[in-house]
Amino acid sequence: MDDPILHTGGCRCGAVRFQAHAEPHHISYCHCADCRRATGAPVSAFVGFRAGEVSLEGKALKSFSNGPAERSFCGTCGSPIAYSDRRLPDRLYFLLGAFDMPAYFRPTQHAYVREQLPFLHMPDGLPRHLKSSVPRPEDGTDQ
Ligand SMILES: [Zn+2]
Ligand SMILES: [Zn+2]
Repeated sequence: MDDPILHTGGCRCGAVRFQAHAEPHHISYCHCADCRRATGAPVSAFVGFRAGEVSLEGKALKSFSNGPAERSFCGTCGSPIAYSDRRLPDRLYFLLGAFDMPAYFRPTQHAYVREQLPFLHMPDGLPRHLKSSVPRPEDGTDQ
């Protein structure tokens, strides 16, 4: 009998938990300034699933919208949890570092390298996109 796929994660205080019962369709670093502000880290990384493949729970879960982008986080400990975009209604991107086994999710590309910090060097040979690594329906704008 095959083990069903189950990836789990959560915030650092444990008030917010999430799970995904599929393999991700997207794993990417993001160098954009908006992610940098939201996480405080020089580079972020996201693991993308279809909305129907994931569940999120916890009364502490809060979110903040900036244009079409919505970021969720734990209202108790502040850990960033996920990112979604109104233009991609079927997608949810969890912060790679929020997973219980983050080493499982090896990024395959870099997004927004035109906003990459000048002292950050990641010579991994992965594809590097100047802007988003995921086309939006009406792209041409940021985020
Ligand atoms: Zn928390
Ligand atoms: Zn970003």
